Amino acid sequence: MDIPRIFTISESAHRIHNPFTEYKFATLGAALRLKPGTRILDLGSGSGEMLCTWARDHGVVGTGIDMSPLFTRQAEQRAKELGIADQVGFIHGDAAGFVSDKKVDVAACVGATWIGGGVPGTIELLAQSLRPGGIILVGEPYWRQLPPSDKVARGCLANSVSDYLMLPDFLVSFGSLGYDVVEMVLADQDGWDRYEAAKWLTMRRWLEANPDDEFAAEVRAKLDTEPERYAAYTREYMGWGVFALMSR
Ligand code: SAH
Repeated sequence: MDIPRIFTISESAHRIHNPFTEYKFATLGAALRLKPGTRILDLGSGSGEMLCTWARDHGVVGTGIDMSPLFTRQAEQRAKELGIADQVGFIHGDAAGFVSDKKVDVAACVGATWIGGGVPGTIELLAQSLRPGGIILVGEPYWRQLPPSDKVARGCLANSVSDYLMLPDFLVSFGSLGYDVVEMVLADQDGWDRYEAAKWLTMRRWLEANPDDEFAAEVRAKLDTEPERYAAYTREYMGWGVFALMSR
């Protein structure tokens, strides 16, 4: 079981697989006022940076589940590196439908809401693992500027303008699902650059190391086109944030 290869090539050197930086995760951890022993479930945990750094900085414990064997190995490695491997565990697997045996204080899905078939489905899924009064974290894009056409939305790798909302409408939408938005930390364009531009050097180095790989033409094509596409579309139009929710 694995995710499409382009991600494990282009994001192999990423610790964070979304437009957040280590500072944004630190801000979020502080904003949530996490206490030692707080139990966290993270669906689509990637390379585990959120859980690992919060275990180090706040003494949280928890589990991450991710479909990428590479990212899961990197998460385990990171936990050892930070000396918190006894506090966090990472499972390689499909997080769709995953409900934890023990209820958690914080249930998160940060940049992988397709796991629950979209934001509402993911919130419903996370809620099944959450203790009463716990916090749900959802990391998701929104429109920073409304794309003037579906063509521009497709430039942002969305299917259409209707895929995402503007921030105020997005915040309202959590209310219609029965949740209070109790905190949020938003990515900025520097964070987007760290996520997207970091892929370019990784792809360039991968191409140098793997010139005869059957995937080389695809990676080369991405490296040729991604900087312009990103600067013209994603960087201008897409916002991204992590939203903390509590059931009303
Ligand atoms: N939350 C992480 C990773 C976000 S990227 C971070 O902030 O860094 C999205 C992640 O979802 C990737 O690591 C990918 O491997 C994982 N993923 C995709 N589909 C999945 C699924 N069905 N089950 C579990 N993980 C999945």
